[in-house]
Amino acid sequence: MRAPHRGAPTEIMDDSLPFEYCQVAPLLLAWYGREGRELPWRQTRDPYRIWLSEIMLQQTTVTAVIGYYQRFLGSFPTVEQLAAAPLAAVIDLWAGLGYYARARNLHAAAIMVVEEFAGSFPDTVEELQRLPGVGRSTAGAIAALAFDKQAPILDGNVRRILCRLFALQQPPRSSAAEKQLWRWAEALTPEAQVHDYTQAIMDLGATICLPRKPLCTACPLRELCQARRFGLEQQLPLKQKSKPVPVRRELALLLENAGRYLARRRPASGLLGGLWEFPSYSLAEGQTAAERIVLLAGELAAAGEPVELGTIQHIYSHFRLELKLYRLPVSVFPQVAEVEQEWFSKVELTQLALHGAHKKALDKLLNFGD
Ligand code: SF4
Repeated sequence: MRAPHRGAPTEIMDDSLPFEYCQVAPLLLAWYGREGRELPWRQTRDPYRIWLSEIMLQQTTVTAVIGYYQRFLGSFPTVEQLAAAPLAAVIDLWAGLGYYARARNLHAAAIMVVEEFAGSFPDTVEELQRLPGVGRSTAGAIAALAFDKQAPILDGNVRRILCRLFALQQPPRSSAAEKQLWRWAEALTPEAQVHDYTQAIMDLGATICLPRKPLCTACPLRELCQARRFGLEQQLPLKQKSKPVPVRRELALLLENAGRYLARRRPASGLLGGLWEFPSYSLAEGQTAAERIVLLAGELAAAGEPVELGTIQHIYSHFRLELKLYRLPVSVFPQVAEVEQEWFSKVELTQLALHGAHKKALDKLLNFGD
């Protein structure tokens, strides 16, 4: 098989590596020995703790995760205790970390480990991928970090490093590029010291090969890197073409009674399942929030005039939410069948597992004053 061309960046679609790429693992390992970060989940080979940290780190920074990781282990020190907990308790503890499907998958996976694997995490990439929320890269990370298996990872950081190292001239999420990136990730992963190599390449992406301004002069791979050689480190990875995002318009009501506000829990399944929110209502095409609130004020036995608190924009993976906020004093609010709802003080609301957009709504309320 051919090696990647050395004359210019090309559409490399070949999994062979030139001889010098054998240096990637030793260079990374030596750098990790000097510069590796001390993180709470690095002191353990316990697959439960490693799995927990890997799920939390998906789409989230190390800084945001550390406190959650420690609180989670404080509440659920073992996979059995996590599996036995009510889903609502898991979601409440996850509040603020975002991407809540992870919390639901975490709970479902813990139950699977207890029921199907007798409480012991499987040690192969194939079996690990059967756990809800565990894709190939997370399975590779658990296999490498907990069991020292020669398993590659391809998370966002590693994807970016490989696109630059080999100057990949393809959108990195295309299916051809995806296959190629996995082949490179596999070819670079060493047989020995897989645990440290995996931590090292994660650290390189998090601290040196940064998305916007990679710190190439401090990079242990700078002599091998094709993007650096051709001055492409800021252009790669190539950007994906983004699709237009639909907009959903809603009205959220901060219903107030004697200084307490009504919130309700979303159903356990579906988008943002199990999280809390203020009562909210879709706005029809062309309908304004002011028009809708006039109708609602009658239905909800309003005890005063609605007060507009502003508008919130919140981005989800497949739509953008435009949320109008009103505070409305009410004398009573009817119980909606099968919905868990309660009145909370402002202080209690700050402790509640509100989902992201409604957390922003609470901030508006707190900043608005009485
Ligand atoms: S040299 Fe620069 S672009 Fe290349 S891998 Fe290192 S940090 Fe990334």
